[in-house]
Amino acid sequence: MHAIGIDIGGTKIAGAVVDEFGTIVREDRRPTPAGQAGLIEDVVVSMVERLSEGSDPVAVGVAAAGFIDSSQSTVYYAPNINWRNEPFRAKLEARIDVPVIIENDANAAGWAEFRYGAGRLVSDMLMLTIGTGVGGAIVAGDRLFRGGFGAGAEIGHMRVVPEGLPCGCGAHGCIEQYGSGRALLRMANELADARGIGQVLADVRAEKGELTGTDVGDLIQAGDAGALAALRQLGTWLGQACASFGAVLDPQLFVFGGGVAQSGEQLLEPIRHAYLENLPARGYHPEPEFAIAELVNDAGVVGAADLARIRYQEL
Ligand SMILES: [Zn+2]
Repeated sequence: MHAIGIDIGGTKIAGAVVDEFGTIVREDRRPTPAGQAGLIEDVVVSMVERLSEGSDPVAVGVAAAGFIDSSQSTVYYAPNINWRNEPFRAKLEARIDVPVIIENDANAAGWAEFRYGAGRLVSDMLMLTIGTGVGGAIVAGDRLFRGGFGAGAEIGHMRVVPEGLPCGCGAHGCIEQYGSGRALLRMANELADARGIGQVLADVRAEKGELTGTDVGDLIQAGDAGALAALRQLGTWLGQACASFGAVLDPQLFVFGGGVAQSGEQLLEPIRHAYLENLPARGYHPEPEFAIAELVNDAGVVGAADLARIRYQEL
């Protein structure tokens, strides 16, 4: 039983025909038309038409960044596209002859990881996507948690520092400001300013004009003490946040995705340590697993397709 998943990213729109085992049968990829909601709709419809040829999909799932209502129909707000209360599902269903759902992109990626990746053996998991920001998804009791209005699981905006750094969401002290790729870069720059173990970071910065995420990632791979110290700071913040999530949601597994998670065990080790240090009722709480996401680039399309198929089967 085939379903189509479409993942609308900031620079590209990825599409795929996915079977019931989470395997991609066919793919398509187009650049995202800048800022134009109507053009995005046209691209999605054209991709669905092309992917449908010969594959007979039962449903279409579309993943996008933003707040989506709990009936998977309306985009309340999207950060990168001028969608405000956009009835995107109705617009697509008027042009596509199979059922459509809209899902938050982090939820879709987390769901794919739960069904076919690192989370396939658990019933309750939390996924944190460490990219420019901190995204997330919650699976509780084998179901994707969306909240009462569909705007839940915004893991990156849990406050960890009262009156802390200002966040793009308008609040202060969100974990996104301490546990994201952008935060890692800030910490690396601070270590470069202090010299000491940050000397190599300072040298690279002086040579290139500024540090990039790729520079810091390369130095982590090379085992540079400064870059590893920045990663340890980041992991410590994330582990503290996970301790709070653990107290509330009690997942069996925390999964980490996104570019920074490519550092693997070097990120997981400080996370695990800070989690255990900060867990309420420490010592009496069963310990969850901490893992790196397995479906790196395809998670959005696979998850969106799978959620669409499940919804179709429930109809
Ligand atoms: Zn925030």
